[in-house]
Amino acid sequence: MKKDTGHSLPAPELPHCRTAEKRVKRRIYRLSTDVLTSFIIFTESGISMLVKDLLARHKTTFSFEFFPPREDAGADRLIATIANLMPLAPSYVSVTYGAGGTTRHRTHDLVVRIKKETDIPVVSHLTCVGSSKQEMHGILEKYREAGICNILALRGDPPKGMTDFVQPEDGFDHAADLVAYIKKHFPEMCVGVAGFPEGHPATPNRLQEIDYLKAKVDAGADFIVTQLFFDNRDFYDYCERCELAGIQVPNIAGIMPVTTRNGLIRTAELAGGAHIPARLLKAVSRAENDEYVEKVGIHWATEQIRDLLDHDVRGVQFFTLNCSTATQEIYKSLGVSNSRQLRN
Ligand SMILES: Cc1cc2nc3c(=O)[nH]c(=O)nc-3n(C[C@H](O)[C@H](O)[C@H](O)COP(=O)(O)OP(=O)(O)OC[C@H]3O[C@@H](n4cnc5c(N)ncnc54)[C@H](O)[C@@H]3O)c2cc1C
Repeated sequence: MKKDTGHSLPAPELPHCRTAEKRVKRRIYRLSTDVLTSFIIFTESGISMLVKDLLARHKTTFSFEFFPPREDAGADRLIATIANLMPLAPSYVSVTYGAGGTTRHRTHDLVVRIKKETDIPVVSHLTCVGSSKQEMHGILEKYREAGICNILALRGDPPKGMTDFVQPEDGFDHAADLVAYIKKHFPEMCVGVAGFPEGHPATPNRLQEIDYLKAKVDAGADFIVTQLFFDNRDFYDYCERCELAGIQVPNIAGIMPVTTRNGLIRTAELAGGAHIPARLLKAVSRAENDEYVEKVGIHWATEQIRDLLDHDVRGVQFFTLNCSTATQEIYKSLGVSNSRQLRN
């Protein structure tokens, strides 16, 4: 997909890469696909930018989360969707790991493909479920070889049909153990962890929960991405509690625009305990059909992001659900054509 057209254009701003700064040469590539003609930048080093460096460089980062499709045709469609979103100039993209570790290979393949075909910095989610330490080590080695050095370290959701997490034999019990392992054996890697503004269902004691989050940061986590939330007051309160606990790494706010009625119901199930404000529910129930539900969701998410920006949020992660429309419409509603206009 990469094609050098030889166009002489002003070089766009290149994110900071401490490890390879001197070796980085700016190149601008015109990418021509059915869906996109856009400029992308890549480094000759083959090493991904670290999210912590992007966070240090920019006031706010903007990232897009995708999940690996089940079949190969879906992967091609997703690459087209990602290409579609590139003009929005995300800081990086992120790829999830299926519940129970089910998409391990697909996650790996998609992350490596994104890196090869776009060179946008990419974060791979990695969960402890169902894998021994040795297996996890092997997966991390493969990422190292492929030059992937941003990992979101998670305990993970149990596989379908199971309700509780079971520690694998010779595996990790909590995400904090995985963070410590990565930092010990793969110290060059940048590691993110999950945060839960409305609390995690397995830990009703909210004081204790922040202590567990602090343990992940003390183990070496460089940044936190939060579970989705629909009421920013939950996020601000959580950030204050993080501050009180001495958590100093950036919190990236997880935002998911509601696009269908069923999607909202699924969200309530998946993000167990998510607080769905009555105002949002009323607006969704008034909508004539899903086309209008999407407009309601886009409006709601736009207002959330506008308010987060006014409160100097460090990062916004869009849970795209592998679609480009809602994210593109949110940027338009924010009055900008790409993230560069928002992040400095
Ligand atoms: C941004 C984001 C991305 C996600 N991506 C994925 C994904 O790609 N794949 C996937 O399967 N899931 C994903 N999840 C879901 C996540 O894996 C689940 O919510 C999981 O149940 C918790 O993961 P964790 O990493 O926070 O686990 P942990 O930090 O291990 O916490 C799990 C539970 O144990 C508690 N706990 C932590 N430490 C201790 C301790 N020492 N003693 C007792 N209790 C403790 C915590 O309070 C929490 O209730 C994601 C979640 C978020 C917010």
